[in-house]
Amino acid sequence: MTRTTPPRPLDVASAFPELRPLARRAVRLHPRRGRPTRSESSVGGPLLWPVDEDWPVCTATHGGWDKPVSLEDVRRRRALLEQAWLRPRPPGQNLLSAEEAALLASLEEGHTRHAGPNALLPVAQLYLRDVPGLTGPEGADVLQVLWCPLDHVETSMPAAHLVWRASADVVDPLDVPPEPADVDRDGSYVPEPCAVHPEVVTEHPSPLELPAGLADRLHEWSSTANSHYQHELSVAPGWKVGGWAPWSFCDPQPMRCTACDAELEPLLTISSGEWDGGSGSWVPVEDRTPHAGPMGLREPSNPPMVLIGRGYSMQIYRCPESSDHPVLENMQ
Ligand SMILES: [Zn+2]
Ligand SMILES: [Zn+2]
Repeated sequence: MTRTTPPRPLDVASAFPELRPLARRAVRLHPRRGRPTRSESSVGGPLLWPVDEDWPVCTATHGGWDKPVSLEDVRRRRALLEQAWLRPRPPGQNLLSAEEAALLASLEEGHTRHAGPNALLPVAQLYLRDVPGLTGPEGADVLQVLWCPLDHVETSMPAAHLVWRASADVVDPLDVPPEPADVDRDGSYVPEPCAVHPEVVTEHPSPLELPAGLADRLHEWSSTANSHYQHELSVAPGWKVGGWAPWSFCDPQPMRCTACDAELEPLLTISSGEWDGGSGSWVPVEDRTPHAGPMGLREPSNPPMVLIGRGYSMQIYRCPESSDHPVLENMQ
């Protein structure tokens, strides 16, 4: 099913023509529960990977005091809670039985960190045919994003690794990829398999990236016009490719390539949710009918169940000069 963002409540570029040159295309990915295959675009789905190519691993130092858990712990924990949320429950009855509560505690207990390299986990696979405007290096037709699902000392986020691939080169695909031995204890960095439903939208810069005078005039205008520029007219929430950065809680900083000093461009935004109290106007038309019956574990606004920080976004930037230059991550 496609996903359709409703028209913006106001045509901000007509009222402020100086915004027109700043308009950028973003492709909202709208990840939704699914069973994607390796020949499809996905979030948290299987990657098309050659059997004779080494699977990437992380050897970095990991931050945080929490003990990690295993991927299997995360899967069993989610299955247990999903089942509990879906069954009918008389008023006053606990969500979990005593046995289930004990099992849950054991699944959340964690283990001592493994000493060796940690295999990376698939986060997204995007065939360029599915994402208008997304281009890669010569010959590549699919972007694969993996990460090490732990907090890293420098960023307090997972460490992402990008692979651009020509799918036709994969003659003998890997069926069972290695899995990370250590995963963050909350499972926040373990995306549930989702199909994507890409949709092109137009974005304008966050107020923090606008010239001060224009930002002030926009603020005044949007408060009198009963529409909030930041939440409704600038940057789309949720997983997306391209667009503008969601600067909100810290001042924009120059994002420059550490190899060649070029200005980096936003490539992929990995989000903790597609809408919240402030961004309701971005809820796709198809998702506006309230769900009938028990909800289960997944929030409708966050089918991949990824959580960055306290509900923020992780944006991956790439160098426009070369896909061999390192990518940069930023949390907003
Ligand atoms: Zn790592
Ligand atoms: Zn560069």
